[in-house]
Amino acid sequence: MRVVHNVAELRIAVKAMREEGLRIGFVPTMGFLHEGHGSLIRQCKSRCDATVVSIFLNPTQFGPNEDLSKYPQDLEADQSLCLKLGVNLLFLPTVAEMYPSAFQTFIEPGPVAEPLCGKYRPGHFRGVATVVAKLFNMVQPDLAFFGQKDLQQTVVIKRMVKDLNLPVDIAVVPTLREPDGLALSSRNVYLSPDERKRALCISLGLFAAEAAFLAGDRDIASLLTHATECLWGVDEIQYCELVDAQSLEPLVGQVDRAAAICVAAYVGSTRLIDNILLNPN
Ligand code: AMP
Repeated sequence: MRVVHNVAELRIAVKAMREEGLRIGFVPTMGFLHEGHGSLIRQCKSRCDATVVSIFLNPTQFGPNEDLSKYPQDLEADQSLCLKLGVNLLFLPTVAEMYPSAFQTFIEPGPVAEPLCGKYRPGHFRGVATVVAKLFNMVQPDLAFFGQKDLQQTVVIKRMVKDLNLPVDIAVVPTLREPDGLALSSRNVYLSPDERKRALCISLGLFAAEAAFLAGDRDIASLLTHATECLWGVDEIQYCELVDAQSLEPLVGQVDRAAAICVAAYVGSTRLIDNILLNPN
């Protein structure tokens, strides 16, 4: 596994891969890797000839009162996992490398970035879209992998790729969960044992709604009741909404198209998100 820290080295390494005719896959991450990231890397390995992973804790996607300064990091463990999974090229840029002084150009996503997390994390998707666009320009992958767990992120990125004619395909990988159902997240490390137990109610609610949906329930109010009834264990629900899976607009009445139930909630001081897809066809 080659490890590079700056864009110049990255470009040389990627150019060599491209000259070999390799199909290049890319997995962008913020580090503190877990098996959820691992499943993106595994998919990338199976669908591409060369796998590039980036680890960059992107400051522009964090709000002033968010957890940037305490976000967990373990570069050594991350490198071992990447090595074990057969990553070919690991990109570890510094903040100065990604955002040199006088940096001032951002990607401004449209309405898909406004609801759900966009409402509670102003500027978050602007930071995400900007860093992903920059990373795409640096790596120039054929295929890039994102997790379904961050559904709105996948919608924002797919929209950006279409709107800006970026020459990359986007693959969305299903959410990897703990055996009891909790979605894997780097932020789970913040949870105390009691909070960890209570956090489970988020996925349990989503599974209850999914079971009702699979049993034929199409009534949105009823499905949302299933999801929210289980949310007694969290300390604050930011949102629990049933939305169109493409536009992320809230749906009313019956589920008549691909939809998702999306949740964001605080357990203690940890903000967790999760979602489940509902496909009526
Ligand atoms: P992050 O490091 O949190 O920015 O995540 C990097 C990528 O891993 C994003 O595309 C996430 O959606 C994805 N990811 C995070 N958690 C999971 C999970 N539990 N299952 C699948 N993908 C995930």
